[in-house]
Amino acid sequence: MSRGVGTKCIHLEEEEGKVNNYGAISFPIYQTATYAHPGVGCSTGYDYSRLQNPTREQLEKVVAALENGIDALAFSSGMAAVAMLMELFRPGDHIIADADLYGGSIRLFKNVSEKNGISFKSIDCHKEDVEKYINENTKAIYIETPTNPMMNVTDIEAVSKIAKKHDILLIVDNTFLSPYFQNPLDLGADIVVHSGTKFLGGHNDTLAGFLVTDREDISEKLRFLIKTTGSGLAPLDSWLILRGIKTLAVRMEKAQQNAIEIAHWLKTQKAVTKVIYPGLEEHPGYEIMKKQARGFGSMLTFRLESKEFALAILKNVRMIKYAESLGGVETLITYPTTQTHADVPKEIRERNGITEETLRLSVGIEDVKDLIDEFGKVFAEAEKETKN
Ligand SMILES: *Cc1c(COP(=O)(O)O)cnc(C)c1O
Repeated sequence: MSRGVGTKCIHLEEEEGKVNNYGAISFPIYQTATYAHPGVGCSTGYDYSRLQNPTREQLEKVVAALENGIDALAFSSGMAAVAMLMELFRPGDHIIADADLYGGSIRLFKNVSEKNGISFKSIDCHKEDVEKYINENTKAIYIETPTNPMMNVTDIEAVSKIAKKHDILLIVDNTFLSPYFQNPLDLGADIVVHSGTKFLGGHNDTLAGFLVTDREDISEKLRFLIKTTGSGLAPLDSWLILRGIKTLAVRMEKAQQNAIEIAHWLKTQKAVTKVIYPGLEEHPGYEIMKKQARGFGSMLTFRLESKEFALAILKNVRMIKYAESLGGVETLITYPTTQTHADVPKEIRERNGITEETLRLSVGIEDVKDLIDEFGKVFAEAEKETKN
């Protein structure tokens, strides 16, 4: 029987009893650029750290195990991973991408990939008929579920059937749930993307990105690309993410528990017009989430009665920080309009529902009573300020 996800975060099964790092419980940081060869034509298995480094390799094995992939590649950031992924395609190729994606991915597609001759069709994968948009040049479908920031939920298995039928790739950015709650490869995806900066690292202190696959041919192409372009994660940063992952299970559980309580508290506030959290039964994706994920995560989006109220919240938070990013132990609140999604054209933003009254919350692992206590004060202050 395969081990639980919590155990896989801490122990790499295949390595047990085989590695001898002087018994070190924490995997060493191999801070080296190059490796001496024992003789001509011989190698220790490592030649140069752009190709591979033992610390990065250890991290990659852990992430591959967590996503049930055959290979995982660690990059210097989530965007470095997505940029590398785009190198699998050539001019003339067409990709169907969800309309509501992380703003940086949309910026990359629009400003870099399109310039390189790749075209994109942006659709609402959670409610449109994806198959209708496939043409003879379509090579991939790119989704997030739940999406950033609108928390739209797409049925991964249903989309994967369409992708398989047309022999195109299904790529899923799994950053929002992490492998603790969802494994897209098991549901038919070909490649999983992660911003390791978020839940995997978990401490808002390191940038990292991952591509994970269960296909030999894709792994081979990506290995060639990482070695050729040099976008692999550095040894120290690999170690920080390895350490972060050890507590992934407890962090995800605690953050989710906090998020559920905060979602219910927000619903009681008269200044809040909408709470979008896939763990609420009224969320349109609730049933699909129950089917394809093991939890609902700790990201939620909510809308206020006015832009002024939203801005007053951002101005008055203290312990809760007004910052971009997500998935760390600290609770962060984000204004997608001017932060994560500022470079997304206004009409697309508004079409997706990212209005100026919308805030995104990444719930951390503080004591939930302190979070709700702070929100209570901040809402009271915002109420006073906007009534004047
Ligand atoms: C943050 C994020 C990225 C980009 O990752 P970086 O590590 O910031 O480069 C990609 N996708 C999603 C869903 C993200 O939240």
